[in-house]
Amino acid sequence: MRRSIAVLASSVLLSAAMAACGSGGGAGDDGRVRVVAGFARLAEVAERIGGDGVAVTDLTPPGAEPHDLELTSDEIDAVDDADLVLYLGGGFQPGLAAASRRAGRAVDLLTAQDGKDPHIWLDPQRLAEAATVVYRELVAIDAAGADGYRRRAAAFRDELAALDQEMAAGLATCERRELVTAHEAFGHLARRYDLVQEPITGISPEAEPDPDRLADLVDLVRAKGVTTVFTERLVSPRVARALAREAGVKVAVLDPLEGRLDGGYGDAMRRNLGVLRTALGCT
Ligand SMILES: [Zn+2]
Repeated sequence: MRRSIAVLASSVLLSAAMAACGSGGGAGDDGRVRVVAGFARLAEVAERIGGDGVAVTDLTPPGAEPHDLELTSDEIDAVDDADLVLYLGGGFQPGLAAASRRAGRAVDLLTAQDGKDPHIWLDPQRLAEAATVVYRELVAIDAAGADGYRRRAAAFRDELAALDQEMAAGLATCERRELVTAHEAFGHLARRYDLVQEPITGISPEAEPDPDRLADLVDLVRAKGVTTVFTERLVSPRVARALAREAGVKVAVLDPLEGRLDGGYGDAMRRNLGVLRTALGCT
């Protein structure tokens, strides 16, 4: 707390000095706060709260999967030059976490929360907590923009609270509660809505599936009457399809929302809710 007050004070002094030079309250050449984000969900949070006050760079290329992102030298420069770097620890993007240690102002949005699973954005309430952290950081960097940041952060949190209620209501009464997923992305979502995640592979989607694990999952699918094995958009569905075939059930895409989206986060989560309700037999 003391550190953030000191940073806030120095930021206010800096803003005053910059205003005296006629360059406004922001930190970039165009007066906007330069935010670098590890992947699309964090970029979206920065854009939603920052509005016109920020220029956001998403380090993960379109169509790429963000786990274990490798940075180019240009991207490392962008991290060094950023006013604010947003990333998730827990082994999600270790290259960015290492580069961020040299950056002026970098925030691991996982450390503010309990637990080690980086997939916090799949629980709207956890994403709202991360949004609050981003809001505070932006105010500390650009006090002149505080009113706008506050207004947009409140609107975003209201949207997330409504989404959370919709998810909770939609998943309250279901015939089944088991999620057989491609990688272990849905732990926070499962805990939030009282579901049971049964992933084929671990926290990172690149891990090779264990044959014993697959055999156990075939047994589980049959024992629990699971109707659907979930695949992802950005990872090959080969193994999930083989499991579904072996167990005699369907596959459907349950998006871990690790890539860029056509619409926003809320729309994508509602699509996931529809997929879940069908697969789990919710009423
Ligand atoms: Zn993941």
